[in-house]
Amino acid sequence: MYILVTGGAGFIGGHLAEAFLTDGHDVIVLDNLEPFYAEGIKQRTLEIHRETATEHEGAYQFVEGDVRDQDTVEQLVADVDIVVHQAAQAGVRASVANPRKVTDINIDGTVNLLEAAKEAGVERVILASSSSVYGKPESLPYDEDHPTEPVSPYGVTKLTQEHMARVYTELHNLPTVCLRYFTVYGPRMRPNMAISNFVSRCINGKPPVIYGDGQQTRDFTYVRDVVDANRTLLESAAADGDVLNIGSSDNISIQSLAETVRDQLAPELEIVYESAREADAQHTHASVEKAQEVIGYEPSRTITEGVGEFIEWYQANRDWYEPLVQSS
Ligand code: NAD
Repeated sequence: MYILVTGGAGFIGGHLAEAFLTDGHDVIVLDNLEPFYAEGIKQRTLEIHRETATEHEGAYQFVEGDVRDQDTVEQLVADVDIVVHQAAQAGVRASVANPRKVTDINIDGTVNLLEAAKEAGVERVILASSSSVYGKPESLPYDEDHPTEPVSPYGVTKLTQEHMARVYTELHNLPTVCLRYFTVYGPRMRPNMAISNFVSRCINGKPPVIYGDGQQTRDFTYVRDVVDANRTLLESAAADGDVLNIGSSDNISIQSLAETVRDQLAPELEIVYESAREADAQHTHASVEKAQEVIGYEPSRTITEGVGEFIEWYQANRDWYEPLVQSS
């Protein structure tokens, strides 16, 4: 298959492109190397893609460009079978600080892609959505029928993206699937997220810092599970026109997460608490029953197992990853 991965130099898109290349697909990555965090992490990802493509003999192309650039998008989409759309301004706090930028990239960029995909008649567009579409929890765990009331501009853009995808499926018969990811972690993860922060601080003998009282809970998803869901959807029409939660369903309080990391790396450290950040969701917890039924999705790791693996990866890659995490 010939697959376009937008945002493929980023954390999740980077793993997707690597997995598709390993499976023998041909891959184009479109990414504008947005300086939201250290570019060195993205450059390392692109290096891994080139190495993987050489090993598996798939065609690979990296295009430095913007999903908001209609000509570029039309040109690239014209040749591919599947579009896997990960490019976005991620991050709730960034969206509070700069809501215009997030609507510009996440909504206008997505419409560009959907338009091009409709014109080219691609087989499917798989889009990265987010647990942020739920916002205020009425009941937990969230299933896909839970009301959507985002509490950040970012969440609003992801919900709009979902509606736009559904409308393209209904109006134009363009197969689309939106995957609502629940906080994703793993090798090369974005800096400034709880897990990368806690690990980086504890490994350097600094206490983990919690914003708020630590009682907020999160459903952390290992990036390989996100990859598996996307892989299945390359070949499956079972979720076309629909949304699926992709989480671990093993949720944990931020305080327990900080303790888990601290206990593995520096048990003597005392956790530090600072004031809560605006627009952060209080709780996220995924029901993955629908994804299990529709595409056979099975989360593969508990949070303790996944964090342990991430710590091992961090230690093995500390020389290049840590300075980039700390400079972000
Ligand atoms: P990321 O920031 O690492 O990756 C996004 C990539 O998109 C970056 O490489 C960036 O350079 C690129 N990009 C940004 N604007 C662009 C533009 N205008 N044109 C082309 N490329 C552009 O983030 P991530 O964590 O890998 O997230 C990937 C997707 O998953 C995003 O859509 C995000 O909203 C979604 N998501 C992520 C999480 C998570 O926990 N990481 C959770 C829910 C949803």
